[in-house]
Order: sequence, then structure tokens, then C-alpha cells
Amino acid sequence: MGTLKETYWDPVAGFGVTFRTMFRKVVTEQYPYVKEKTAPRFHGRHQLNRWPDGLEKCVGCELCAWACPADAIYVEGASNTDDERFSPGERYGRVYQINYLRCILCGLCIEACPTRALTMTNEYELADDNRADLIYEKSDLLAPLLPGMEQPPHPMRLGDDEGDYYRGTLSVGRQSAGEGQ
Ligand code: SF4
Ligand code: SF4
Repeated sequence: MGTLKETYWDPVAGFGVTFRTMFRKVVTEQYPYVKEKTAPRFHGRHQLNRWPDGLEKCVGCELCAWACPADAIYVEGASNTDDERFSPGERYGRVYQINYLRCILCGLCIEACPTRALTMTNEYELADDNRADLIYEKSDLLAPLLPGMEQPPHPMRLGDDEGDYYRGTLSVGRQSAGEGQ
């Protein structure tokens, strides 16, 4: 036989949280019908950024791939030529893949990138129904062409050499618009 408290009070107290919660404002999110905004620095899908003339910021150095703890990034660099230029300077990322079956969205790759080519957007809808489509190619990751940008390959439009791009001496803004974190 329990005490009076155990017999009469404890069973009622056990429902205390239930009763309190019943009268609170409902916080259920109606996803996917209503999509809430993420925090500004939320780590979502990656983006490969461009310079304001459309050239790619990625120089194919593979530092992002080496930094990745999940081995989710594959990069193959190649040399630019005067006839076929994708980025300012010597090299560009010819092949660039991120495997979202492996990626844990930790952001170490974007910290490693020396040119701010790689950043992360707030896009979080990365589910799919097959494995192949979760390996994103360069074409899936490249930032869209904004007004004033031209689809590479093309010559450097913002200066005579790559230093003009990286020294911050450009007359137009250094960051490509829409660049994420
Ligand atoms: S976010 Fe993390 S796990 Fe994903 S590709 Fe970058 S370093 Fe790798
Ligand atoms: S995204 Fe950045 S770190 Fe990765 S290969 Fe391109 S320039 Fe190098």
C-alpha cells in the first residue's frame, strides 16, 4: 500500500506535462506544403561560385577533396589555355563531383577552399530515389549565370591577369552575387 501522495497525487502529476502542452500553440510544420526558412548559415547543398564576368572561381586544386572527412568530393583539374579559359589563371576544375550519399554537410571543404569557389547554400531538399542522382556533377553545382556574366570558356574580362581577380582590384564587386556561406 503506497502513501497518500503515491496513490492520489502522482498519477495526476504524471499527466501534468500532457495537460500543459494541450493548451499551447501548435508548432507542427506543414512541410512540404509550407517551407520554413532555414537559419542564414544553415549548411545545405554546395555551390561553385563564379566571378562577375562568369569565369569559374574553382582552380581545380583539390584542397576541398583532401579536407573532406567522408571522401565525398572528387576533383580533376585541367589547364586553361588562351583559346579555352574557364577560370582566371592556370587551372580549372574539369571534373567536379560531390557524393551526397556520403556528405555529412560538415562544411570543412568550404573552409579549405582558397578561392571561395566552394560555398554552401541553404537548400536542404537533397533526397532522391536512386543512388546515381545523388552524385552531383559540376553542372549541378555551378552558380547560375547572372546578368553581365558570360558562359565560359572565354577570355578574362575583368583584368589582364589572374592577380587582378584575386588582389581585390576589380572595379566591379569581387564576390559573385548569390554566393552562399
Ligand atoms: S560538407 Fe563535409 S562531408 Fe560534405 S563534402 Fe564538404 S567536407 Fe565532405
Ligand atoms: S572548390 Fe576550391 S578547394 Fe575545391 S578544387 Fe576548387 S578551388 Fe580547390
